[in-house]
Amino acid sequence: MTHTFRVFALPAALLLTVAAAPLEDPPLRGFTTASAKVEREWESKFRAIPEPARMREAMRRLSLRPHHLGSPYGKDNAEWLRAQFASYGFDATIERFDVLFPTPITRVLELVAPTKFTARLDEPVVKEDPSTSQKSEQLPTYNAFSADGDVTAPLVYVNYGVPADYDLLERQGVSVKGAIVIARYGGSWRGIKPKVAYEHGAVGALIYSDPRDDGFGAGDTYPAGPYRPKDGVQRGSVLDMPVYPGDPLTPDVGAVPGVKRLDRKDAVTIMKIPVMPISYADAQPLLAALSGPVAPPAWRGGLPITYHVGPGAARVHLKLAFDWTLKPLYDVIAKLPGSTSPEEWVIRGNHHDGWVNGAEDPISGLVAELEEARALGELVKQGWRPKRTIVYAAWDGEEPALLGSTEWVEQHQVELRQKGVFYLNSDSNGRGMFGVDGSHSLERFVNEVARDIIDPETNAPVGARERASRIGGGNKEARTRGDLRIGALGSGSDFTPFLQHVGVPTLNVGFGGEDDGGIYHSIYDSFYWYTHFSDTTFVYGRALAQAAGTMIMRVAGADVLPEEFGNLTETARGYIVELKALRERTAEEIAELNRQIAEGVFAMVNDPRHPLTTPSVQASAPVLNFAPLDNASITLDSAAAKFERAYSSLPSSNAAAATLAQVNALLRQSDQVLMLPDGLPRRPWYRHSLYAPGLYTGYGVKTMPGVREAIEQKDWKLADAEIVRVSAALLRESDLVTRAAVLLEQAVTVRPIP
Ligand SMILES: [Zn+2]
Repeated sequence: MTHTFRVFALPAALLLTVAAAPLEDPPLRGFTTASAKVEREWESKFRAIPEPARMREAMRRLSLRPHHLGSPYGKDNAEWLRAQFASYGFDATIERFDVLFPTPITRVLELVAPTKFTARLDEPVVKEDPSTSQKSEQLPTYNAFSADGDVTAPLVYVNYGVPADYDLLERQGVSVKGAIVIARYGGSWRGIKPKVAYEHGAVGALIYSDPRDDGFGAGDTYPAGPYRPKDGVQRGSVLDMPVYPGDPLTPDVGAVPGVKRLDRKDAVTIMKIPVMPISYADAQPLLAALSGPVAPPAWRGGLPITYHVGPGAARVHLKLAFDWTLKPLYDVIAKLPGSTSPEEWVIRGNHHDGWVNGAEDPISGLVAELEEARALGELVKQGWRPKRTIVYAAWDGEEPALLGSTEWVEQHQVELRQKGVFYLNSDSNGRGMFGVDGSHSLERFVNEVARDIIDPETNAPVGARERASRIGGGNKEARTRGDLRIGALGSGSDFTPFLQHVGVPTLNVGFGGEDDGGIYHSIYDSFYWYTHFSDTTFVYGRALAQAAGTMIMRVAGADVLPEEFGNLTETARGYIVELKALRERTAEEIAELNRQIAEGVFAMVNDPRHPLTTPSVQASAPVLNFAPLDNASITLDSAAAKFERAYSSLPSSNAAAATLAQVNALLRQSDQVLMLPDGLPRRPWYRHSLYAPGLYTGYGVKTMPGVREAIEQKDWKLADAEIVRVSAALLRESDLVTRAAVLLEQAVTVRPIP
C-alpha cells in the first residue's frame, strides 16, 4: 500500500523515467551494486544445477538399510558422503567422537492385573515396502536414555503428561507416586513426559501414539495412506536436552579420546526412571484396564474405549535394560576455502543418521544439501570463488541427542566464536510452504532470498506464497506489512549448539505442511513411503537446495555481512510486550483464584459424589520493573537506525575492503554479545538471552527465556534479576551495532565511486 502511494506522489517527469527504465534487480543486502550484479549471475547459474533425479537416487542409496548411530550402514553412509563431497572438489574429512548411546537389550511390558496381556513391541513388515523387513539391522522400538529398570506398579493415565495435567490429577485426588504413568504423544516434546512423571514420584513411564492425533483419526494408515498404522511406534530420545544436549558424559567439551568423562550416575540429563514408547495397538488393552475417574473430555483420544484416569486394579510390569557402552560417531566435514576471508566460516549442516531407514528424517534434507555442494563444486570449476570459507557438514547422532553437531561445536568452540559467521540447518523436507526460523538480525536477508526462490508447484515466489498463506490464515500482521517475520528457534535439530551455546548467527530452513503423515521415527519412514506420499518428484528437494545454496553463496560472498538490526529491535520489543502481558495475566489469575477460594466457590460447585479438592492459596504477584528492558530497546533502536543510515550508502560506494573487514569482524559477533555470561538459570549450557527450548516444553521455544520462565514459575525475584541480565545483553548489542555503524560510515564515505 505504501509503495503504490509513493509512486503516485512522484512528479510526472520522474514517473516517466521510472517507467522507461529497464527492470532492475532490487539491491542485495550486503553487496555493492557492482558486486550484486556479479553475485546474481553466479546465483542463477547455481540454481539451474540441482537435479531431482539425483536426489531421488541419493535418497535410495542412503536409506537402503537402517543407518542409526553406531550401525554398520551409518558408517558406510558417512564414508560415501565424504567421498561425494571430495568428488565435488571439497576438502572432506570424517571427524570421529566416541559417545554414550544406549541400545536396548531387554524390553518387557505386560499387564499383570486384572487381566493378562503382553505387549507386542514390534512393528510388522509391510510387504509392499521392502526395507521394513530388514529386522536384524533395525533398532527395536525404545526411548534412548531411559533408565534401566524392572518395576511392577499400578497404571495411571496422565493425558499429555505436562505439568498442567498433574494439577488436574491432584484436584481429582489421583497420585502417580509409585505408579507407572501412560501418556500420549503430543502437547510437549517427549522427554518432558517422563521428567515430569519422575518429579511427581512415578516409577516408570509409557508414551503411546494415540490414533486421534497420530493414526487413523488423522487419515488413512500405511501402506494405504501415509498415517501411522496400529503397530507403528515413535522411537525417540528422552535425554533432558533442555538442560544440555550432546553426550551426557562430556558437557561443554568434545567427546574425544582422553577427555574427562562423567560417571553415568552423575549425568543429570539421563532419565531417572524406565520409559518406553508403544503403539496404539499395545496401549489399548492397558488403557481399557484402567478404572477410577473418567478422563475429562480434552483427555480422550481416538480409541474405541472409555478413557479412565486410573489407578484401580490395573497393574503393569515394565522391564528395560540397555547396553551403555560408548559408540563411535562419524561427522562428515567438507570445506571449500575462502579467497579473501578464509578465516570466516559459513557453515551448512543436516544430519545423516536416522532412527531406522530415515528416508524423510533426515535424508530428504540431506539430499538437497548434497546437491547444493555438487552445484557449488560446479561453479568453482567455472571460476567462482567464495570470499569466505564454506563448511558443509553431515552430522551423525542427531536423533539420540544432537550428538554429532554438539560434540563438534564443543570441540571447536574457540574457533567457532572467532570464525563462525553463519550456520544454516535443515532436517526433514517435504511439500508445502517455505519455513525459516532463526536469528532476527537475518530477517531482512531471509526476505530477500524468499523473493528469489520459486515454489515448484505453484510458480509463485516462496516468500509471496508464505505471505498469502498467513493472510489466508487470518494473520493480521501479514496483511499490514510487506515482509515476513521469521520465527524464533527452540530446539529439535542441529542448530541448537551453534545458536544457543556459541552464538553463531543461525537459520533453520525447510519446506512442509502439505504432505502430512505418521511414520516419524518408525520403520515406515522409508524410501517407499517418501516416494509414494511426500515430495514424490523431489521438486521441493530442488527448491530447498536452491534456497539454502543461495543463502550460503550470499553470506559467503557479501561485502558486508547481511545483518540488519531494525527487525531484531522490533522483535525484542514484541517479546517485552508479551512478557508484560504474561505478568499481568498471571497476577490476575492468582488474584481471581485466591478470591474464589475465599468465597468458597470451589466447595460450592463441587459434585459431592465426584469431589475435587480445593487448590491452595497462592502468593500474589508483585509488580516487576520492566524499565531496564524498555530503556535497552530504545537504545538498540537508535543504534539500529544509525547502522541503517550508514548502510544506505553501501550499494553505491567503493568501500575500503580493510574497513569493511573491521565491520564484518563486529557483525559476526552480533549473536555472541547477546549471550549471557553465566547462561540461563539452572542450565548454564544455554547462553542465548533471546532464544532457548523451554525447560518444560522441550522443542518449543521460550523467547527471553530467563525472564519468561521465571514469570511462568512465579519466581518474581528471579524475573527481576533476569530482566536486568537481558537488558545488559541488549545494551551490548547496541554498543556493537553503534561501533559497526561508525566504521561502516567511514568505509562508505571515504571512497565514494569516482
Ligand atoms: Zn531429523
